[in-house]
Amino acid sequence: MKIICIGRNYLAHIAELDRELPKEPLFFMKPATALVLPDEPFHYPDFSEEVHYETELVLRIGQTGHAIGEGEASRYYDTITVGIDFTARDLQRRCIEKGHPWERAKSFDQSAPVGVFKDFDQLKDPRQIAFGMQLNGQWAQQGNSRDLIFSFDRVVSYVSRYVTLEAGDLVFTGTPQGVGPVHVGDRMELFLEGERVSVFEVR
Ligand code: MN
Repeated sequence: MKIICIGRNYLAHIAELDRELPKEPLFFMKPATALVLPDEPFHYPDFSEEVHYETELVLRIGQTGHAIGEGEASRYYDTITVGIDFTARDLQRRCIEKGHPWERAKSFDQSAPVGVFKDFDQLKDPRQIAFGMQLNGQWAQQGNSRDLIFSFDRVVSYVSRYVTLEAGDLVFTGTPQGVGPVHVGDRMELFLEGERVSVFEVR
């Protein structure tokens, strides 16, 4: 099982980090040890002083596919949730400055908590999926899938040209604006269409 993450997929987030608008999807991967199950705590890593949350819609791949056409892509994922792409922003800044890979900053253990998955056919409107995260009871991030630069189908099709997607793989689809730091003792709640899909503590 692997985790694919899409970067720079919402305009307002690209602006807040002052990054360039991508011409095609940008992706990186996290290992299976990054996964944290719903309602399990996140342990703040000792190698960073600036861990940021990025709240993202997460697709689960339902069947193996390689070089999937955009027109067929929706058959390859069937459930969705909200997750956090935890990022050691201090390490990421150093990696970017030196042109080094991001793994240290992005792919560490426990860097990918997810909520409970929901079937697409249970959603109110699969074309505009509202999601968000509350930090200590206040909205920290809210987004909607209608604002994606690259659609779910585009992303799944694009990634599968390079990397075979297998049943059980997860695709984090990018964060909207409002990323920020977490601290030990914080309580995080993930919401999909108004329903809480995970609540956990930073320890
Ligand atoms: Mn992200």
